[in-house]
Amino acid sequence: MARYTGAVCKLCRREGMKLFLKGERCYKDKCGFEKKPYPPGQHGQGRKKISDFGTQLREKQKVKRLYGVLEKQFRRYFDKATRMDGITGENLLQLLERRLDNIVYRAGFAGSRKEARQMVKHSHFLIDGKKVDIPSFLVKPGMVIEVREKSQNVSRFKDCLDTAEGRGVSDWLALEKSNFKAVVNRLPERDDIGYDIQEHLIVELYSK
Ligand code: SF4
Repeated sequence: MARYTGAVCKLCRREGMKLFLKGERCYKDKCGFEKKPYPPGQHGQGRKKISDFGTQLREKQKVKRLYGVLEKQFRRYFDKATRMDGITGENLLQLLERRLDNIVYRAGFAGSRKEARQMVKHSHFLIDGKKVDIPSFLVKPGMVIEVREKSQNVSRFKDCLDTAEGRGVSDWLALEKSNFKAVVNRLPERDDIGYDIQEHLIVELYSK
């Protein structure tokens, strides 16, 4: 399935949650979901009843869209999560959180995960001193993610870091803002992820 190219605020309205797809705008009054917190379309405010399957499907779509992952890749994360020790749903979210594009966004180097993905692909980041341009790269505890020296002059990084200050950084990451650097202290736990996600519904969907 191709990547969605339509109006992204509609996705938040469809999923009933802010997915933070538009960068700075998501944190302002202009947010489409804040203005219209109901599904898009003529019958958006009228639809009420939804089946169990529909609820599970929506939850999966919500998480896929939040992290900007396509179906095939999402399914691969799920399969990997089932092979890990612990709770499958939490493992799935942890794998998504460990993606390099997510770290770049969470640390505040980018305004959205989409922008983070683009920055990573344009080779602006080093991990433990080595260039990594793969957005799906999974980070591990102890790894150091930094903006390449010659990219540190790009004003967008500083702007993003300044704007992101209000968002805060969860303590599984340590941000050294002045050095354009983030260190992975530990693996993220469920509480660190913080979104309103019912991951067990995704497990139920894929377990049918
Ligand atoms: Fe979603 Fe951001 Fe649009 Fe708000 S501004 S609806 S959070 S994409």
